[in-house]
Amino acid sequence: LATLSAVAALVLTACGDGSGDSQAASDPAKGKVGVILPDTTSSTRYESFDRPYLAQAFKAAGVRYDIQNAEGSAQRFQTIADQMITSGATVLVLDGLDSDSAAAVQRKARAQGVKTIDYDRLALGGVSDYYVSFDNVKVGEELGNGLRRCLGDKAANIAYLNGAPTDNNATLFARGAHAVLDKVPSYRKAAEQAVPDWKPEKAATIFEQMWTEQKGRIDGVVAANDNLANAVVSIVNKNGEAGKVAVTGQDATPQGLQNILDGKQCMTVYKPVKQEADAAARLAVALLSGGKAETNGTTNDPEGKRDVPSVLLTPIGVFEDGVKRVVTDGFVKASELCKGG
Ligand code: BGC
Repeated sequence: LATLSAVAALVLTACGDGSGDSQAASDPAKGKVGVILPDTTSSTRYESFDRPYLAQAFKAAGVRYDIQNAEGSAQRFQTIADQMITSGATVLVLDGLDSDSAAAVQRKARAQGVKTIDYDRLALGGVSDYYVSFDNVKVGEELGNGLRRCLGDKAANIAYLNGAPTDNNATLFARGAHAVLDKVPSYRKAAEQAVPDWKPEKAATIFEQMWTEQKGRIDGVVAANDNLANAVVSIVNKNGEAGKVAVTGQDATPQGLQNILDGKQCMTVYKPVKQEADAAARLAVALLSGGKAETNGTTNDPEGKRDVPSVLLTPIGVFEDGVKRVVTDGFVKASELCKGG
């Protein structure tokens, strides 16, 4: 069976958009950037958006680049990084699988004079030069405010399905969501669990258990992304309660937006990934030439006890009436959403 990423890679290569280091307009003297994405299963964002937007940005800057996906393996992540450095990359843009392995890659790179940028996820205890992401506490607040808008202030039992415990973003999403929802006196936390590796199968099992334990008395679910949300929706549907539970999500994936249009998911958080890719490319290009680039803040790494110069972007909560905007932005095609709606 061809994996999704293999198929995606094929399609992208055919479009001249994928990894590789022979871009026609690139200037070898400018150097080379390597990008490593984490996986193909925790979200469709990496192959659908991060990869093509990053490729576009590096092409526009005229620098050589190589974008690869570690497919969920930390070992593979390190191997790819080693190969990129051997083949001349002097800047690595890293979306790590977990802090420890990503920080190890950064230290090894630095020992060889290679600069690194944390992309989307901060590797705690790492030594990166920059961090580019969305404001992830704000993402969590969007989840909290979104769920509150869908539930109203009546009494409600809330379940939290957090992202991977090894992903610093997941910690920040949960923190932001709690900061909002814990203040609503009529809400009660019914259950809370992190989903290892953001795996939707695991999310379904965990949520089904929560549902059984709570005897189906769950009114709202903070699901940390659209993949987890879809797992929740499938269990709610299976129990004959389709559309009766308010579920949040993130990434504005076609599936998430479809669930919103179908009334099965309350909202998603749209993160215009093009902005993130453009910012990462801008910082990478500056590092290539030994220069500095503009940032708009710092992010504290409590483990490394340092403040990492950061570009932090603004996430956008999307409800049914906002789906159109995501389409207008070109993030998803209307034709991807009409079916089965
Ligand atoms: C990203 C999300 C993504 C999740 C799973 C997080 O670190 O910020 O956009 O849905 O990982 O891949």
